[in-house]
Amino acid sequence: MTADVGAGELLGRGVSAGLVCAPVLHLVSTAPEAGAGAPESSDQAATPEERLARAVSALDAVAQDMQQRAAAAPPAAVEVLEMTAQLARDPALASAAAVHVDRGLTAEAAVELAVEEFCTQLAGLGGYLAERDADLHDVRDRAVAHLRGVAQPSVPAPGYPFVLVARDLSPADTATLGDSEVVGILTEEGGPTSHTAILARSLGLPAIVGCPGATALAEGATVVLDGATGRVDVEPDEARRDEVRRALDAPAGPAATGPGRTRDGHHVGLLANIGTVADAERASGYDAEGVGLFRTEFLFLNRADRPGVDEQTAIYTQVLELFAGRPVTVRTLDAGSDKPIAYLPLPREDNPALGVRGYRVAALDRSHLVDQLTALARAQRATGARVRVMAPMISTAEEAAAFAETARAAGLDEVGVMIEVPAAALRAADLLDLVDFVSIGTNDLAQYTFAADRMVSGLGDLLDPWQPALLDLVAAVTSAAQAAGKPVGVCGEAASDPLLAAVLTGLGVTSLSMAPPALQAVRDQLTRLSLTMCREIASTARSATSAVAARRAALDLATSAAPV
Ligand code: PEP
Ligand code: MG
Repeated sequence: MTADVGAGELLGRGVSAGLVCAPVLHLVSTAPEAGAGAPESSDQAATPEERLARAVSALDAVAQDMQQRAAAAPPAAVEVLEMTAQLARDPALASAAAVHVDRGLTAEAAVELAVEEFCTQLAGLGGYLAERDADLHDVRDRAVAHLRGVAQPSVPAPGYPFVLVARDLSPADTATLGDSEVVGILTEEGGPTSHTAILARSLGLPAIVGCPGATALAEGATVVLDGATGRVDVEPDEARRDEVRRALDAPAGPAATGPGRTRDGHHVGLLANIGTVADAERASGYDAEGVGLFRTEFLFLNRADRPGVDEQTAIYTQVLELFAGRPVTVRTLDAGSDKPIAYLPLPREDNPALGVRGYRVAALDRSHLVDQLTALARAQRATGARVRVMAPMISTAEEAAAFAETARAAGLDEVGVMIEVPAAALRAADLLDLVDFVSIGTNDLAQYTFAADRMVSGLGDLLDPWQPALLDLVAAVTSAAQAAGKPVGVCGEAASDPLLAAVLTGLGVTSLSMAPPALQAVRDQLTRLSLTMCREIASTARSATSAVAARRAALDLATSAAPV
């Protein structure tokens, strides 16, 4: 991406609004490069049991360190630090390390490999859990530092305000930011639900994540960082510095709250993505209008037996109660491909992403779907909640019709389908004849539009939701939904990018569902632009011929429409 951004400028994802002009300093990383190499001299003579004991005690030291930091950390950091401590103490991590020491590897190498295996599993679960990847890597770096007896990464303390730059920030790094001289955060990696984003918002620090080129910035270079748009001006000229000074001197308006609205009052629902009861607990405290995506596969993964109707009813009831008075959109089981279910007799496939997954699993044995819908209908009756149910990976009108019939027969009356396959986007009108709403899963829609496996990290450019072809498919769906007079949501990662949220709004999307920590930045962005501006920005983005150019053009238009 850096190749295409203008000289002296970087573009990332703004996750905490605010403007700052300051020099950059890099996070001091003394963590060693971990490597699964040959046994080290200290380990060479050790038995597997001794090596495992070293690995476990290093992981435990990390857990204790996190807990100590949690005791002195600001409230928003406490939970993440405790969760990271739990990750470090997870018995599954120690068991994985045991396998590797038995194979003759050092304690360091065993910790590294065990963490990588964990990360792969979490990546398969998507969304919030996938982003715990950074926490696990931090656990790894700190555990390896312990094993090698070297210092841990730390935030600089130069005696003047600065923008902190890092590849990514861990909970331990971010926990101490409140008392530091950091006035802005810029990371090369990370997403809207990373700790960097969560903590930055809670501390009111402007922040940009996922910014290619950030770590290559010269130490001490002055930047203007705009956390609302994701733009970083490197060594800005005097005019730009003046502009920023004036903007900073102007009195700030109150932060936006409540339902999503554009500057001229057009409503766009702001909803939460959740995957577990614990997620629902966390999400219920956010300013969200409801749940736009409850990924129910967490109920089915990592267990040997099938959950019964009663067990499912109890869990759905808990989630519905947590969101009492707010609609909850529940997605039926999205199994297969990267989400294998132990007790489902799925065939071995060469291309599982193109195989029996999502709604197609119901064709093997419909009783799973019927059980799930029955449990949901019972939970709905027990709570009086508004339940919207939708099926993943619908490709044809026949599938939509069969799902709608089964869901309605179970007693659920608000029925929708996810649009994640280009065929469904192209024939959205046919689907909308059969269901009450559609929700676009941009993660899979990008995967299938670009024939690019979403699990392959090297294909990120093709999977970029700013790809104009993806925007064209979203536009095809929104125009069908408008013609049908039915709601169309977006619940893939695209919804959590504030600038892209404006584009989606301009395209006619009626609700945006995202990991809750991303809600405020999206809400703020919408309030800066009118619906007409969002439409202009959307049409400009669609006219571009690359994802980078689409984002660039959208940013230019958004900043000229709502200058800082
Ligand atoms: C999507 O594909 O965009 C989506 C929301 O579903 P998941 O990420 O769970 O596959
Ligand atoms: Mg999907």
